[in-house]
Amino acid sequence: MSIPQQTLFVSVLSGRVPHAVLITGERGAGKRNTAERLAGMLLCTGHPKPCGACRGCRLRETGSHPDLLRVSEQKGTIKIEAVRDLIEELSKKLYGEGHRAVLIENAQAMTVQAQNCLLKTLEDPPDGTVFVLTCRSERELLPTVVSRCRVVRITGEGEAAARVRLEKELGTDAREAALFARLGEGYFERAREWALEKGPMELRHGLWSVLMRLSEPGADPLAGYALCKDRAEEAGLILSVLSGILAEVLLYKQGGGAISPDHARDTAALSKKFSGPGLQRCLECAARAGALIEVNAHRQMLIEDLLLKIKDAMEDSLYDQSDRRAL
Ligand SMILES: [Zn+2]
Repeated sequence: MSIPQQTLFVSVLSGRVPHAVLITGERGAGKRNTAERLAGMLLCTGHPKPCGACRGCRLRETGSHPDLLRVSEQKGTIKIEAVRDLIEELSKKLYGEGHRAVLIENAQAMTVQAQNCLLKTLEDPPDGTVFVLTCRSERELLPTVVSRCRVVRITGEGEAAARVRLEKELGTDAREAALFARLGEGYFERAREWALEKGPMELRHGLWSVLMRLSEPGADPLAGYALCKDRAEEAGLILSVLSGILAEVLLYKQGGGAISPDHARDTAALSKKFSGPGLQRCLECAARAGALIEVNAHRQMLIEDLLLKIKDAMEDSLYDQSDRRAL
């Protein structure tokens, strides 16, 4: 899963649901999966979302959830009549208590009249309604439609395509291929590096254990830097792996499932060590450090600074919890 997808899911799980999302990306990038997963999170009443077991999930999986509306192309176009029918449908009451998702795949198939007809509803949909549009590029839609959506760009050829190629070309086992494809953010070449070179994978396992050790009382944050010391030239990779891990922990904390099957236990354990805002602060710090590394700032200092922030965030959450118990 790429960072834009992760960010979208994290904000949805934490209750900041955009009223319209436009997912763009090349063929096979994973637009449909992302849209379906988003709809699943919106309609699920269980935990973690989507749980696959609650009534909402079961209805959705059998294609009969009344709060999931799909507008599909007919012979390559979506005409104004289809949009009018949709608006009529949206005036009815919600079936459940949560959200209603409107999926418009290949949104570029909407005629100009259809897009114009949708504008008002897209800007101010009925309560609980979330529009999910997909198309290859936002250039294919009217700027007035795009500006009313939160745009999520999926780059690379897509996780699914990268996974299949790893299995075919390198004979990677299916479970590992899925992991490498995710770590490579849907780019085959990056996924291939994860699969072939031991280094990055060792670094990733190492950074998981750095975080686990850091969560022990009295741990010295700067001791974690020892692992990174010999790899200072890979500071960019270290930061991106660290922020990937923090994003996974945040996603889990907000009620999503664990993403890395090989570190599922660590994900659960770490999620208890942070507060949500604490994790957000660490992610922001990692993003700032990532930008500074590009301009050649002092690498060791940036990584040490992030480790200190992470330790602070863990201790803050401990303090919050004991505070609450005291009350
Ligand atoms: Zn569910």
